[in-house]
Amino acid sequence: MARGKLIIVIGPTGSGKATLMRHATEHFPELGVLNSYTTRPRRPDHVENDHYRFVSVDEFKSMIDRGEFLEWAEFSGNYYGTRKQDVEECVANGKVIIKEMEVQGVRQLKGLLPKDDLITVFIDAGPWDGLVERALKRDHLSEEEIARRKARFDDEITFMPEADVIVHNGAGQREEADQAFEEVVAKAIAGS
Ligand code: 5GP
Repeated sequence: MARGKLIIVIGPTGSGKATLMRHATEHFPELGVLNSYTTRPRRPDHVENDHYRFVSVDEFKSMIDRGEFLEWAEFSGNYYGTRKQDVEECVANGKVIIKEMEVQGVRQLKGLLPKDDLITVFIDAGPWDGLVERALKRDHLSEEEIARRKARFDDEITFMPEADVIVHNGAGQREEADQAFEEVVAKAIAGS
């Protein structure tokens, strides 16, 4: 059996990552979503909860000590990590799996997984000015939240030149973005 692949999705808040991923999983029933471990609290009524295993800080640290994580990172005061065994099982079983990740974790993965096992996809929703303008039309954001998102944007955007694929998802580009993302998944499925 051919090996599977891990598709990692990276992009700033508001880039539309979750929507593109949801669309892809609906379109490709064989596409799996990889679970993460996190110490952050569960958000009420959120679909994302399905893709996390919520653990205490002590449990997370024990998992680090036992070497169970392929990668882990501290982000916004919480721990996030990918379990080695989860990835190995999927890839060895020929499955294509998708996962959203912040940049510290992706950079670790790039050095750890065979090149053929990993595809990194950056979702580019255009420059910060447009992104923040759209976010402010949807929600009221405090100055503090805007500053936090800007810092994250500046950090995430540094990954764009390192990504295997860039999907453009600016204003009015949703359909093209869905299509471009579908192509990435279809290729990964066909090649595995
Ligand atoms: P949230 O708390 O909003 O669900 O996620 C915060 C950030 O953690 C997001 O950028 C998300 O992509 C990232 N993340 C989710 N799971 C993992 C993981 O297993 N490892 C790493 N490094 N980041 C993750």
